[in-house]
Amino acid sequence: MASSNIPPRPQHPSTRLVTTGRDPAKQHGFVNPPVYHGSTVLYPTMESYVSGKQEFTYGRQGTPTVRRLEEAIAELEGGAGTVLAPSGLAAIATALLAYLQAGDNVLMTDSVYRPSRRFCDQLLARFGVETTYYDPLIGAGISELMRDNTRVVYAESPGSQTFEMQDLPAIAEAAHARDAFVLFDNTWASPLYFKPFQHGADISIQAATKYIGGHADLMMGTITANERALPDLQHTHRDLGQCAGPDDVYLALRGLRTLGVRLERHWEAGLEMARWLRSRPEVARVLHPALEGDPGYEIWKRDFLGASGLFAIELKPCDKEMLAAMLEGLAFFGMGASWGGYESLCVPFDVSPYRTATKWAPEGPCLRIHVGLENVDDLKADLERGFERMRALQHTA
Ligand SMILES: *Cc1c(COP(=O)(O)O)cnc(C)c1O
Repeated sequence: MASSNIPPRPQHPSTRLVTTGRDPAKQHGFVNPPVYHGSTVLYPTMESYVSGKQEFTYGRQGTPTVRRLEEAIAELEGGAGTVLAPSGLAAIATALLAYLQAGDNVLMTDSVYRPSRRFCDQLLARFGVETTYYDPLIGAGISELMRDNTRVVYAESPGSQTFEMQDLPAIAEAAHARDAFVLFDNTWASPLYFKPFQHGADISIQAATKYIGGHADLMMGTITANERALPDLQHTHRDLGQCAGPDDVYLALRGLRTLGVRLERHWEAGLEMARWLRSRPEVARVLHPALEGDPGYEIWKRDFLGASGLFAIELKPCDKEMLAAMLEGLAFFGMGASWGGYESLCVPFDVSPYRTATKWAPEGPCLRIHVGLENVDDLKADLERGFERMRALQHTA
């Protein structure tokens, strides 16, 4: 943690991003913490080995580098403690397993990240846990779905691909009235732009693969819990043998240092692109909760501190060839799934085949856009050329 000549908290989050999780005085003066590669931990005496009582005991149970990242994330999220997992999906799976047992029911938002959905429908189902999907816009109405065996209410806001904003305080109040745990996937906003524990969550999950890493070069998940939820999380995390690799932990800590400046830029550039796209004749609808007039705007403004660079658009109807011509010729937008890096992405998506509680029926194809750190005019020109390639095919059709 902070060395002795750093003034006490409270400090601004951007200051904490720089100071947290390192102590140059204990690192021979080097600015960054060292990376510990290790499985075996040696004990000085037979007594200490037999009792297992020392700070570090086994590689899987964490190293000093791991502790630094856990402390930093717990502090930024505003939770009581954090554990690390080798991917965001592993973090989601660990968090769900920590609070569920056979016979339980989980209420899951219909807008959830799709692999989370598969985990519920396949693996949890095999272990006798039943999942009920709910409309992401349900708000306080979720109390009508709560049953005696509902142990977990899971939210993700904005929703994966479709960007619905959820009223987390209302959902959490209904869940807590029935003693359920509220799990929240906070990847879109990162711990900087949404404080889930101030809005009723008991557990906050990050795909650190995305903005915390920020450079498309690592896989990691973090799970942060409040006091009430932490013991179950720690036990399940330990029993599943979850841990993250030392170099990825180091890269995630390094990513954190610039998270503030990167996100400000993603937010600003993303909004500028969203506004520009809203004015384009090819675009039917822009799905961006921080854009004035978006159905989620009021909740975003009430609860969030900022926005990231990920949003979606719905195009006016066009055929597959036109869409492929647009996407395949883009110079700066790559076609790839894992967003949150410094580079822009643009991928088609269709959630209509697997939504069950809500109907998704866009008029044309949908694109999910991640606005990276490139110059915005270059990005606009790239998309503009893409729209021209679409139009060229329309005329020959
Ligand atoms: C990418 C993502 C995940 C999964 O993270 P991985 O590290 O890729 O496993 C979870 N939730 C959301 C919202 C995501 O976008």
